[in-house]
Amino acid sequence: DIKNGCMLYVEDVSVSFDGFKAINNLNLYIDEGELRCIIGPNGAGKTTMMDIITGKTKPDTGSAYFGQKINLLEMSEPEIAQAGIGRKFQKPTVFEEQSVFDNLELAMAGPRGVLPTLFSKLNGEQRDHIEQVMVQIGLQDHSMARSGALSHGQKQWLEIGMLLMQNPKLLLVDEPVAGMTHQEMDRTAELLTSLAGKHSVIVVEHDMDFVRSIAKKVTVLHQGSVLAEGSMDQIQSNPRVKEVYLGE
Ligand code: ADP
Repeated sequence: DIKNGCMLYVEDVSVSFDGFKAINNLNLYIDEGELRCIIGPNGAGKTTMMDIITGKTKPDTGSAYFGQKINLLEMSEPEIAQAGIGRKFQKPTVFEEQSVFDNLELAMAGPRGVLPTLFSKLNGEQRDHIEQVMVQIGLQDHSMARSGALSHGQKQWLEIGMLLMQNPKLLLVDEPVAGMTHQEMDRTAELLTSLAGKHSVIVVEHDMDFVRSIAKKVTVLHQGSVLAEGSMDQIQSNPRVKEVYLGE
């Protein structure tokens, strides 16, 4: 059974805004360690779907479970973050005046732990975690660099690193390669691929070449529901998907 043992279970979820169904009987099952790409034309419901998973929007009907037992619909946004769902928005929000290292240190405590972190000394284990994440995101040689001086791509990786400091089980990443050079895109593909296995990762992305380069399984959203799901080859030869994209 596809639902058994999955990390994220979203079933029959619907949400309306002023009578308009932005999400319409959505089903989404993400396995532990899976890297899933979500694509779909503008207005398909991708942002609203992520808002539901992270607790920012509560659906009118349906169910959503995380790690099998955690009922996402009964939890607040901070509680869901605490439970291990991290979200990276499209626009980087690093502290520009702080170094790479300090941004990672601040992120370790989470959005509410900034003050305690500033006034306490790091232990060896915490320092190791920061070092390890810096290697993961390829910024180990920029530890003391002012974050505002990093390239666009490096800032995006730093922000992924900031999410990793909280050991999330599931990462939601919104348009990670928008505005990146080809080289930065390749590096981002490597990074996201390396995170899968250890974390479940959901990537919302418009760039089809990038999606092809990272995804085993792709979900196409259209009018708030899943239109198609499968490998990139299956998706691209699906007549219903072609219709939706040609009509855009
Ligand atoms: P996507 O991210 O795929 O572009 P969205 O989830 O942002 O799609 O939007 C899905 C649909 O829901 C769109 O038609 C959008 O206008 C509508 N929508 C989203 N959020 C709201 C809101 N807060 N109020 C009214 N309509 C909304």
